[in-house]
Amino acid sequence: MTVVTRFAPSPTGRLHVGNVRTAVHNWLWARKHGGRFLLRIDDTDTARSEERFVAAIRADLAWLGLAPDGETRQSARGALYEARFAELRAAGRVYPCYETPQELELKRKIRLGRGLPPVYDRAALALGAAERAALEAEGRQPHWRFRLDHDAPIAWDDMVRGPQHFDPTLLSDPVVRRADGSWLYILPSAIDDVDMGVTHVVRGEDHVSNTAAQVQMFAALGATPPAFAHEALLVGSEGKLSKRLGALGIDALRDAGIEPQAIVALLARIGTADPVEPFADPAPLIASIDFSRFGRAPARFDEAELAALSARIIHQLDHAAVADRLPEGMGAEGWAAIRPNLRSVAEAAEWWRIVTGPFTPPPVAEADRPLLAAAAKAARTIDWAADPWHALTGAAKAATGRGGKALFLPLRLALTGRDKGPDMAALLPLIGREAAVARLEG
Ligand code: GLU
Repeated sequence: MTVVTRFAPSPTGRLHVGNVRTAVHNWLWARKHGGRFLLRIDDTDTARSEERFVAAIRADLAWLGLAPDGETRQSARGALYEARFAELRAAGRVYPCYETPQELELKRKIRLGRGLPPVYDRAALALGAAERAALEAEGRQPHWRFRLDHDAPIAWDDMVRGPQHFDPTLLSDPVVRRADGSWLYILPSAIDDVDMGVTHVVRGEDHVSNTAAQVQMFAALGATPPAFAHEALLVGSEGKLSKRLGALGIDALRDAGIEPQAIVALLARIGTADPVEPFADPAPLIASIDFSRFGRAPARFDEAELAALSARIIHQLDHAAVADRLPEGMGAEGWAAIRPNLRSVAEAAEWWRIVTGPFTPPPVAEADRPLLAAAAKAARTIDWAADPWHALTGAAKAATGRGGKALFLPLRLALTGRDKGPDMAALLPLIGREAAVARLEG
């Protein structure tokens, strides 16, 4: 069996950390099993779906390294839904209903008042052809419900939540099609999962009750249900998914200088029994994904943790991986010297300017002048090809008797204009002899 997973966002906004987490898990699972990871654009809601979001979803997935192996979109599959709907109708598994929202709300209140579960009473199932015709003559258009089989207990072994059981008599027959002919998500999704050969549905636990109905839809469509993994939801570090976090688009993270590998590494592991680690390469994440290691408690997303993870990933990236984002002329040596100091790749440009100039000398304390003069003198003569920082500081130490911070700090300041930064032994050869002498001379 080839594993097939799908990520099914609605193009009503940008991807955010909550839905990307689902994409990450679907992608990892497919990769682990040599399977296929499909993108399904759930755009049945034509009023809220926008083409620019479809393009943004594709671009964000590509940037994250989660490019799908195939893509479908629900708006192009109306003929399939019609055909399968006609079969369900012929089999009596969908039926027309005529209640208005107000009538349904009243029924619900009455049942609750009687201490009954507020499920749909199936009154429309009892209508005869003449009664339906009379309602339609009044101008009422039917909406359609899927008839749950009350004699078939609903059960599945969830890869995250374990054995799940639902009593179908305690569920309302779900509405699958509106009076205007448009589809609700629940039935097209099941039809698509059958048609696309989806073997594993990985999604948030907010879909568990949809799954209960869909398990019966798969059977009614003549298919074996896929395996399900319903993951606990994502919350912010303060314990709930704040508005801000819910809206925290992948584009905003990219603009903030976060590396895509950090997003994948964090979202792959938070809420699981496995530690979050700075993997620049997804191979260990692919090897280790295991839904039985996912917790039932909400996964906590912490932006500060993401930023720290991103920095640790940057510290491992090769020059080739970032070359197109570096300033002109910054080669592998420059990257190697500056990389350990970065929190974002964009900061490399700032350090590269410090290396190449133009350079504004910082104010020099009178007491440091002899030290800088000694260093400038040494800088003119030492072997620059070997280890100029070691030679320079050695000569300056011998000339002034200074050591430790009193030696290193004024030199760093004079050479870079900063009191901290990358290792001077790596930076000084890049600054070069001529510029170093000029900076030390002030
Ligand atoms: N479009 C649905 C959503 O975004 C898909 C859910 C699913 O994975 O089936 O919630």
